[in-house]
Amino acid sequence: MQVVHSLDALRAALKPYDSPAFVPTMGNLHDGHLALLAMAKEHGDVRVASIFVNRLQFGPNEDFDAYPRTFEHDCALLEAAGCDVLFAPGEADLYPQAQTFLIHPPTGLADVLEGAFRPGFFVGVSTVVMKLFQCVFSGTKTQAHAFFGEKDFQQQLIIRHLVTQFALPVTIVTSPTIRESDGLAMSSRNSYLSEAERAEAPRLQACLQAMLAAVKAGQQSLEAIEGTAMATLRAHQWQPDYMVIRRREDLGMPTDSDRALVVLGAAKLGRTRLIDNLSFDR
Ligand code: AMP
Repeated sequence: MQVVHSLDALRAALKPYDSPAFVPTMGNLHDGHLALLAMAKEHGDVRVASIFVNRLQFGPNEDFDAYPRTFEHDCALLEAAGCDVLFAPGEADLYPQAQTFLIHPPTGLADVLEGAFRPGFFVGVSTVVMKLFQCVFSGTKTQAHAFFGEKDFQQQLIIRHLVTQFALPVTIVTSPTIRESDGLAMSSRNSYLSEAERAEAPRLQACLQAMLAAVKAGQQSLEAIEGTAMATLRAHQWQPDYMVIRRREDLGMPTDSDRALVVLGAAKLGRTRLIDNLSFDR
């Protein structure tokens, strides 16, 4: 695996290839990231991963400084997983000027849920993804692919719209959420949890499962189901931001005729904010 830091070195490393399969990450890799890389192996002629903790997508009171950085270990995992090129830019490589051109994703899609609780988050995500795509795909000759996790459901939806609206020559592929054996979605932020919090953490996923079952049973209003989930989490010392049932296609409020749905939740347990979701058809 070649490890490159500058844009010039990245472009030189990719020059012999026609169709990169790209997995962007913020590092501190786990099996969720490696599942994306495994999917990437099925596409294109070179596997590219990036590790970049993107300051632009963190709010002033969020965990940019504390975000776990485990570069050596990540390199070993990527190498073993068959990654060909790792792009690990420094901030000056990716943002040589202050990044004042910004991608503002559409309201409706990006100012709800995560966007409502993390103002500016999807501006930072969309801008860095656009930029990483420019870096990785500039020499692409045939169709390129990029891989995102369903764990960040709203993020992959926004990136699909970004690709469509800017006619980017890349196909987005999503991977199902990879979970610990007790159901907790794998996340770099799980390392913030104390032992007691780690034991409690699967309740988020369990509440989403209960919401899904309640929707399928059809006996309560969606608002009542959402309210029950919020109350359950609060009763166990969580501070939920949202627990909602939405249309899968656009995160709109489901009408009675909508069948393809997703339940999404975000909640703080102590100082750790966790998110999760489950897609289903009713
Ligand atoms: P991150 O490093 O957290 O920015 O995540 C990089 C990519 O990995 C994103 O596309 C995430 O959605 C994806 N990802 C993170 N956790 C998981 C997981 N547990 N299962 C599947 N994909 C994941």
